[in-house]
Amino acid sequence: MTDKVRIAIVGGGIVGSALALQLLREARLKPAQIVLFEREPPQAPEAGAPPEQRVYALSLASIELLEGIGVWSRLDHGRIAPIERMRVCSGSLPADSPDVLRFDAAESADAALGAIVGARAVQAALLAACQEAGLTIVTEPVESVQFLPDPVVHTRAGSCHVELLVGADGARSPVRAAAGIATRERDYGQVGIVATVAPRRPQVGTAFQRFLDTGPLALLPLPNGLLSIVWSATAARAQELLALDDAAFSAELTRCAAADFGELTLRGARAAFPLRRVQATQYVAGSCVLVGDAAHVIHPLAGQGVNQGLGDAQALAAALAARPRGEGVAARRALRRYERERRLDNALMGAVVDTLDRMFTGGGPLARLAGRGMALAGRLPPARGLLMRGAAGRSSPRR
Ligand SMILES: Cc1cc2nc3c(=O)[nH]c(=O)nc-3n(C[C@H](O)[C@H](O)[C@H](O)COP(=O)(O)OP(=O)(O)OC[C@H]3O[C@@H](n4cnc5c(N)ncnc54)[C@H](O)[C@@H]3O)c2cc1C
Repeated sequence: MTDKVRIAIVGGGIVGSALALQLLREARLKPAQIVLFEREPPQAPEAGAPPEQRVYALSLASIELLEGIGVWSRLDHGRIAPIERMRVCSGSLPADSPDVLRFDAAESADAALGAIVGARAVQAALLAACQEAGLTIVTEPVESVQFLPDPVVHTRAGSCHVELLVGADGARSPVRAAAGIATRERDYGQVGIVATVAPRRPQVGTAFQRFLDTGPLALLPLPNGLLSIVWSATAARAQELLALDDAAFSAELTRCAAADFGELTLRGARAAFPLRRVQATQYVAGSCVLVGDAAHVIHPLAGQGVNQGLGDAQALAAALAARPRGEGVAARRALRRYERERRLDNALMGAVVDTLDRMFTGGGPLARLAGRGMALAGRLPPARGLLMRGAAGRSSPRR
């Protein structure tokens, strides 16, 4: 490990490793000037292995970013499922009701609304691209960081003095804590259950979401007609669901989804994640900057966490690229520009997601009203366009 670099990124998750590549591409930095710390680099899944339990719905904007840094083409496209259409409904609305919100890629200039990718596959491809680009990847855990006042990163392998420290180390971010950045946190009181399921009637490219009284249930398309579920449920309901055996869980899932997929059968294990909202009160403190879940964690109902994090990576690289020649990478002006842009965007997304969760979870008159609003929004062309662009991660119509 070198003892002095310009930028240290702690956390080589999807966000940290994409940031490293975007900095090389855009921000006049060379591989020897950046070091990436990732304590658990994953292996890419073997071709022919079952789908990953953890998958992400990537927006078109995120896919464009991965294309730009040369990572999209590295992925095994036989393991990626495009989202060609989305169906969103509330409560017990029948899946064939005209009030179901329907989006089809065919209505836009894009071939798909986004794509479902395996979490490990993307992270492994990003880290492999970092390695090939000549970046140093330290696979030891970062044990501590100090500010003297410039940052120093300590691992068992040695210490490294840096000009700019990036915390890309996830929701619990030790970097955030060491930099003294406070958080606002809220327990959603829900657990997200993820698993792979096989439907009786596969529908290639269809994503389905039903807002239930106990939390939203999403069915995301996987290759070969399989589906990945993200079933967010109140803690008590999640406990009940996790206690069911596979057959009973599958039956309950089929009943609650009430989707055109017909009977749903669990394939493999379930995993459960307690859901919390986390907002860092600042993204920048001195020579330290936060990206991804280290800065903001939201409810997975809109599948936007990674997408927001990749937006951070793009914005931080752009802010550093725009700094005047001769200005350092920890220049306050560039970091503040990044912070202003991303805090607003991420706070808006968090607010939308929280509003949806509050409106629907718990049921009652508000949920019925929200269901009617959803049906109306689906029929008004301007609202439809806005919702489709939001899902794709674009704020304006495509050039
Ligand atoms: C149930 C569920 C479903 C979701 N579905 C979606 C979805 O469909 N689409 C979407 O966009 N988002 C989704 N999300 C959100 C998504 O998981 C996160 O937003 C995303 O993982 C954040 O990426 P990150 O790189 O910022 O952080 P992380 O993925 O947490 O990565 C942080 C990295 O830092 C490393 N690290 C941490 N500490 C250290 C240390 N001390 N030393 C060295 N390395 C360290 C870790 O090993 C890890 O690799 C979902 C979340 C949940 C809970």
